[in-house]
Amino acid sequence: MTGNLLILTAPSGAGKTSLVHALLERDAHVRLSISYTTRAPRPGEVHGQDYHFVSVGEFMAMHADGAFLESAEVYGNHYGTSEQWIREALTTGQDVLLEIDWQGAEQVRRLFADAVGIFIVPPSLVVLQQRLQGRGQDSAEVVERRLAAAREDISHMGEFDYVIINDDFDTALADLQAVLRACRLRVNDQRARHAELFTSLS
Ligand code: 5GP
Repeated sequence: MTGNLLILTAPSGAGKTSLVHALLERDAHVRLSISYTTRAPRPGEVHGQDYHFVSVGEFMAMHADGAFLESAEVYGNHYGTSEQWIREALTTGQDVLLEIDWQGAEQVRRLFADAVGIFIVPPSLVVLQQRLQGRGQDSAEVVERRLAAAREDISHMGEFDYVIINDDFDTALADLQAVLRACRLRVNDQRARHAELFTSLS
């Protein structure tokens, strides 16, 4: 039985990463894909845990080798998802989360028709701005650039299957868990999980 592929996309500052980590803590059957990026690590970020931080040369060599399921340039940095890792994790029946931008989501959807797209939005642009400033890790210019990019990101919301408004954290987390639960109840999953039952019922 193959696992579900979930794509999580959000403008930066929407709180996607905290939601994902809370979900991973509570659900042992979900795994998060660790992307490759040419972006410099932010303070506290760990190589191999938050991202695989690589040079532009390394990234381009991997790209040329066809190592990426999808890749995109976001805010001037390259990001990519390892195809081998994803296929192996799905084959073992684990559900896989991809935290990627809308460009990557588009590419994954073309390859995996069953992938489920979830878009996370902040409750308002004001809250988004506060969250970006509060993080204190990016310059004012970067925050401004990300705010402008957020509007562009949000214009792609209609390409996703579900939208979660991250106002109250616990509610947003419950929403995310509900989507995952619904995925696991899809007919093909249930058929694979309960083969004997369905044989006996037919
Ligand atoms: P950040 O640098 O703030 O961690 O991420 C910037 C943006 O890049 C976010 O929208 C994030 O979802 C996106 N991103 C992270 N990893 C990947 C990836 O592997 N592929 C794509 N297409 N986008 C990614």
